[in-house]
Amino acid sequence: MSDCLFCKIIKGEIPANKIFEDEDVFAFHDIDAQAPHHFLVIPKEHISTINDAKDPTLIGKLTLTASKIAKDLGFAGDGYRVVMNCNENGGQTVYHIHLHCLGGRALTWPPG
Ligand code: AMP
Ligand code: ZN
Repeated sequence: MSDCLFCKIIKGEIPANKIFEDEDVFAFHDIDAQAPHHFLVIPKEHISTINDAKDPTLIGKLTLTASKIAKDLGFAGDGYRVVMNCNENGGQTVYHIHLHCLGGRALTWPPG
């Protein structure tokens, strides 16, 4: 998708604070962190919303990549949250699916 912000980040057309990349996924720090640790894991394939996702292996890999990064960054043991927002009621603002991973502080529940 030529006009997709996250596709442009994957291609290096827009700078991002990259954490990890392989053939399937790309992870980078959120530009507006809501916790001491807040990064996003996205598929390299453009998928607009989780409603459009078809590949369970790819969706699972987003979660396992977040877990690995949380371990590498040293906050996995204390705990963290992973979340994917979907469409308007879910609060999605960028229509290329992304898994948020937030940690480094106690998070409240339920979310707003
Ligand atoms: P959502 O509201 O679930 O669609 O989340 C979109 C997330 O992308 C927000 O947390 C934004 O802060 C984040 N974001 C938007 N633009 C950028 C960017 N250029 N680099 C890093 N994160 C971004
Ligand atoms: Zn995209």
